[in-house]
Amino acid sequence: MRGYLRSALALGAAISVGACAGRNAHVDRASTVAAMKSDVLLADWSGPYGGVPAFDRMDLGALKPALEAGMAESLSEIDAIARNPEPPTFENTILALEQSGRALDRVLTYYGIWSSNRSTPEFRDVQKEMAPKLAEYRSKVTQNVALFARIRAVQEGRERASLRPDEQRLVWLRYDEPARNGATLEGAAQERYAAIDKRLAEIQTEFANNVLADEEGDVQYLKQDQLGGLPESFVQAAAAAAAERGHPGEYAITNTRSSMDPFLTFSSARALREQVWRTYYSRGDNGDEHDNNARIAEILALRHERVRLLGYDNYAQWRLENRMAKTPERALALLRAVWPAAIGRVAQEVADMQAIADAEGAGIRIAPWDYRHYAEKVRKAKYDLDSNEVKQYLQLDKLREAMFFVAGELFQFAFTPVPAGTVPVFHEDVRVWEVKERRSGTLVGLWYLDPYARPGKRSGAWASSYRGHETFDGKRTVLASNNSNFIKGAPGEAVLISWDDARTLFHEFGHALHALSSTVAYPTLNGGVRDYTEFQSQLLERWLLTDPVIESYLVHHRTGQPIPAELVAKIKKAATFNQGFETTEYLASALMDLRYHMVDPAGIDPDAFERAELAELGMPAEVVMRHRSPHFGHIFSSEGYSAGYYGYIWADVLTSDAAEAFAEAPGGFYDAALASKLVAVSVQRTTPSIRPCPLPWWSRRETHGKSQGRIRA
Ligand SMILES: [Zn+2]
Repeated sequence: MRGYLRSALALGAAISVGACAGRNAHVDRASTVAAMKSDVLLADWSGPYGGVPAFDRMDLGALKPALEAGMAESLSEIDAIARNPEPPTFENTILALEQSGRALDRVLTYYGIWSSNRSTPEFRDVQKEMAPKLAEYRSKVTQNVALFARIRAVQEGRERASLRPDEQRLVWLRYDEPARNGATLEGAAQERYAAIDKRLAEIQTEFANNVLADEEGDVQYLKQDQLGGLPESFVQAAAAAAAERGHPGEYAITNTRSSMDPFLTFSSARALREQVWRTYYSRGDNGDEHDNNARIAEILALRHERVRLLGYDNYAQWRLENRMAKTPERALALLRAVWPAAIGRVAQEVADMQAIADAEGAGIRIAPWDYRHYAEKVRKAKYDLDSNEVKQYLQLDKLREAMFFVAGELFQFAFTPVPAGTVPVFHEDVRVWEVKERRSGTLVGLWYLDPYARPGKRSGAWASSYRGHETFDGKRTVLASNNSNFIKGAPGEAVLISWDDARTLFHEFGHALHALSSTVAYPTLNGGVRDYTEFQSQLLERWLLTDPVIESYLVHHRTGQPIPAELVAKIKKAATFNQGFETTEYLASALMDLRYHMVDPAGIDPDAFERAELAELGMPAEVVMRHRSPHFGHIFSSEGYSAGYYGYIWADVLTSDAAEAFAEAPGGFYDAALASKLVAVSVQRTTPSIRPCPLPWWSRRETHGKSQGRIRA
C-alpha cells in the first residue's frame, strides 16, 4: 500500500510537469500525505509494552517534515519555559525541560535507524540537509539566555537543598552543560570565549587536514623484488593501490595504520621496515607546510585561556570535573600505576624477540621497526591458535542463549520471544524479546536484535536504546537493541562466528543489560560518563569463558560436544600475547594527553615537551607512542578525547577489578551476592543512548588481574 502510494505520487509529479495548476494540486496532495506520514514519526508510541516505535510505518519522505516539526515544537516548548512569568522553580524549569522535546526524540529514534540500520542514498541526502539544521537547533537551546538565567536561578537558589540527591544532580547537569560552554560569561569575556572557540575550530581542522595530507601524500612505491615476506592478499591490495595512483606494475605502501601495521609485521626487508616506520611516525612532523608543532602550541594555549575565563586552573581540570576520575591527578595516578608493569612486560617481549633474532643469526638489536615483525614470530612459536577450529564451537543462536542464561543468573532477567507480529520491526531479520524480572514477573522492557549484515547497514557492532527508563511522568519501559553484522547462513545451518565476534556479542549485550537495569527517575540521568560506560560491557565479556557457558553453550555445531579444555587453555594463553607493546604505546599517548592539558602551555615546544616527558617516564627504546603529538588527532583534531584518552584504561581497570572480585567470590562468576551488588552499581550509572563499536583494541585488553584479553587468531 505504501509502495503504491509512493509510486502514484512520483508518477503524478512526472506527468504534471509544465501544468502549473495540476502540479500545485499534486504538491498540495503530496504535502498533505507527507504531513500525515510525518505524524507517524512524531506520534506517541502506541501498542503493547507501554508503546513501541512504529518501525513498520516508517516512510523516508516524511522524515524531513517530521524533523522540522519536531524541532519547531521543541523550541516553542523551550521558549514557553524561558518566558514563564512565574519565578523559576525545579518544577517549572527543570522538570518542564525534561518533559520537552519528546516528539523530536521520537523522530530521532527513526532517524537513528535510517542512519545505522537502513541507510540509502536518499536518506543520506536528507541527512546532509538536516545535520546542520539539527546542530543549529542544539545551539539555539544552549545559547538561550533567558532559559539559562532560569536554570541558573534554580541551581543557585534555596530550593535546591530541599531536593533529592538525584534531583540535585539533574539540576546540576542541566546547568553545567551550558555553563561549562561559556553561558556564565558576560561582555568582553563572552566575546573572547566565542572568538577562541571559532579559532579552535579552524586550527583543529587544519591539524586534521595536515595529518590527512601526510597520510595521502607520503606513499611509498615498491618493486617486485621488495615484497619479501608479505602475504599474497597484502601484495594484491598494494598492487591495486599503486595502479589507482598511476603506478601500474608497482606496489603502494600507503601511510596509514592499515598499511603500515601489516607491512611491519610481515616484511622481511629491515631497511624498508625502518623507512615505512619513520614515514608513518613522522606524520605532521616534517618541518614543512603540514607540520603541526606550532598548531599544537596554539591549540593548547587557546584551550588554557578559555578554561581560565571560566575559573579553572587548567584544561584537564575543566574536562574531568564531571567524569568518574574527577581530577586529572587521579587519572594520572592510575596511568602511572599501570606503567611499570607495562614496560616490564615490554622488556620480556623484547627478550623473547631478541632470542629469536639471535637464533636466526640476524645480527641485530630489536628496534621499533622490528617489534611487530619479531612479535609475529613469537606468536607463531608460542601462541598459535587455529581460529577455524575455535569457530566450530561458536554458534550465534547458542551464544544468544548463553547471554540470556548469564543475564538470568546475574541480573535476574528472563527473556521470552514476543509473539510474532505484536511488535513492529524495521527489517524481517530483526527479532524481539520481552524482558521481565525473573522473580516478580515485572516487565522491564524489550530487547531488539538485528544480527545480520546487509546493504545500508553500517559495519561493526553497536548497542542503542530507543527509549530509556524513567518514572517521573509514569514509568517507561526500556527499549534496548543490539546490532551486528554476521553473515546469514543457509536455512537450517548454524551461523558460526569468530572468537572476537563472540566477545563483541557479549560486550554489546553488556551495554543493553546496563540500559535495561536503569532505575532513574528522569531521562537526563540516563546519560552516563565517558570513563565509565565501557565497564558494564567489558565486564560481561568475561562470562564467555565461564564453566556453565563452556559446558552448555560453547558446543560443537555438529557433534554437540563442549569445546575441549586444551582449546580453552590456548585461547586464554593467546590473550596475553604482545600486551606489553600494546599497553605501553597506548599509555604513553594517554599520559602525554593529560600532561599537555595540565601544564601552563605558555611558550611550549611540543617536540621538546614530548621528549622530556617520555625520558622522565623511562619509555622503552623499542616502542613509540601509539599516536605521537604531531598526529594525535584524538586530542588535537577535536575535543572529543582531549584530556580523555585515559578513559579506555579507566574502564578497563574497573573491569579487571570487578572480574577479580567475581573470581575470588565464594560463588565465583555466578556469586549471587556480588551479582546483586553489580546490578546496584549499574542502575546508578546508566548509559547514553548509543554505543558505537567495534571496540578499539585497548578496550579488549587485560591491564592487570587474571582474566582473558583479546585473541589474535
Ligand atoms: Zn562498548
